[in-house]
Amino acid sequence: MLGNVKDKVAVITGAASGIGKHMAERFAESGAHVVIADLNLEQANVVAEELTAKFGVSALGVQMDVTSEEQVNAGIDAAFTKFGKIDVLVSNAGIQTIAPIVEFEFAAWKRLIDIHLHGTFLTAKAAMKKMIEQGTGGSVIVTGSIHSVEASKNKSAYVAAKHAQLGFVRAIAKEGAPHNIRANLIGPGFVRTPLVDKQIPEQAKTLGISEEDVVKKIMLGETVDGEFTTLDDVANAALFLAGLETNVLTGQSMLLTHGWHMQ
Ligand code: NAD
Repeated sequence: MLGNVKDKVAVITGAASGIGKHMAERFAESGAHVVIADLNLEQANVVAEELTAKFGVSALGVQMDVTSEEQVNAGIDAAFTKFGKIDVLVSNAGIQTIAPIVEFEFAAWKRLIDIHLHGTFLTAKAAMKKMIEQGTGGSVIVTGSIHSVEASKNKSAYVAAKHAQLGFVRAIAKEGAPHNIRANLIGPGFVRTPLVDKQIPEQAKTLGISEEDVVKKIMLGETVDGEFTTLDDVANAALFLAGLETNVLTGQSMLLTHGWHMQ
């Protein structure tokens, strides 16, 4: 059942920073060829060059705004042209916006849903077409969140989008199975990345509490041990799912939350 990712081709969106970047590093370290797809092309190219130099694998940076069908298709085409296949898609690009529902700007709501939900749809659609064309199928992994199964205050758009991603993963599992395509969601609790570091002062301001209390009570308050999920925890889960050779796990959510959610 367990395989590995050596010589597999993995497209990772939002891989110029945070969780996606760390996943790309761990995939490259394990012998996979990686496509760093990000809004920020300059940084994507820096990461791709670093990985090639460090691990001797082929890495490609591509400009991809996941909300643009044109850029998504162009990026997936560029990856397919370079490597001749796409074995793994990690739909990971994301943002966060903190505001109570009654003050949530509609434009900000739409932007967040666009990136997380429509971006996951567009990248999965393009990658699945290639996985079907190449005849070998593949693995779609979506970086969801604890918020794919739980709600928090002041994150309504994020909670809605992350729940929707889980529904979409289940739909891919059904439609992908005849083509040997599996799909699963990884749901981290809080991981220290730029996305989270930005939230700490914002949450403190919105909730009128100290930054220390945001970390202790809001971010880690529901965990069993008060611990952050680490970048390695998330990358290891992605590597495990990417290496699976069968559909034994498909349509599943793997929650990496230190017991915040138990299923
Ligand atoms: P991050 O801000 O460090 O990185 C996000 C990356 O996505 C950046 O490189 C950014 O340029 C890119 N990006 C943003 N909008 C994009 C777009 N439209 N098209 C392409 N790329 C775009 O964030 P992170 O913490 O690494 O988050 C990555 C994913 O993990 C997100 O989906 C997030 O919701 C999820 N997540 C994060 C945490 C956490 O605690 N950090 C927890 C659970 C889930």
